[in-house]
Amino acid sequence: MKQRIVAGNWKMNTLMHEASRLVEEVQQEVDARVIPSHIDIVVCPPFPWISDTAVRLSGNHGTHGSKKASVIRCGAQDCHHEVFGAFTGDVSAPMLVDVGCRDVIVGHSERRQFHGETNELIARKITAALRAGLRPIVCIGESSDERARGRTTEVVSEQIDELITYAGAEALNASVVAYEPLWAIGTGVAATTGQAQEVHALIRSRLTAHGAPDTPILYGGSVNATNAADYFACSEIDGALVGGAALSSTTFLAIINAACTAWSE
Ligand code: PEP
Repeated sequence: MKQRIVAGNWKMNTLMHEASRLVEEVQQEVDARVIPSHIDIVVCPPFPWISDTAVRLSGNHGTHGSKKASVIRCGAQDCHHEVFGAFTGDVSAPMLVDVGCRDVIVGHSERRQFHGETNELIARKITAALRAGLRPIVCIGESSDERARGRTTEVVSEQIDELITYAGAEALNASVVAYEPLWAIGTGVAATTGQAQEVHALIRSRLTAHGAPDTPILYGGSVNATNAADYFACSEIDGALVGGAALSSTTFLAIINAACTAWSE
């Protein structure tokens, strides 16, 4: 059974009480039902709230003894490529594992854009994440300008090829890829299912040709409660990386419900 994933990227949003409430609301609903084991639900809070979120999800929060651990996985939004050292402000993959993370987003377009991250650096983060025992969620995608110039295939292929050159096919095969066209992130202008299917098919063929056929491929970019089911009905789409809509328990739960409906055995 193919692994499907719904991951929420909270970005630099929420104060601590909001983060706690959000995870509690999602956890309460999710853990009241049976989520098939081939569907992973992940939340990626900002660094300062990871520990509290992971403890809540572990069932060890509060004074009333241990509750059942949640099926929801805790993830992070980035990690450093080194294990420790003089890297002020950075957080390493083993540190994330130590506080209960199981997944980590790497190469998000906002990291590429605002922090100058290259495919080579992102590949090093993939290697570091896997070595520490984290599953990388590796973001790729073209800008609106690149799409307008008809360069989508070239840009996405180059991103995959370079990541494989630097990290290796085995590493990509153990990762998750998120196709996130930059023009769809946080804009409300989601890719059509046709546009997403086309690029996902390209990514799949590229990964398979390199020897990484098992990588789940998520779509990300203005996924919401209304359009999620359409993406999940697509043969090439294995889940969603969700930004804005993951900040409300109502909309994130609606997306999780759409996934469970689409992929109930
Ligand atoms: C994201 O940041 O990964 C994302 C997909 O954001 P949004 O869902 O808000 O477009």
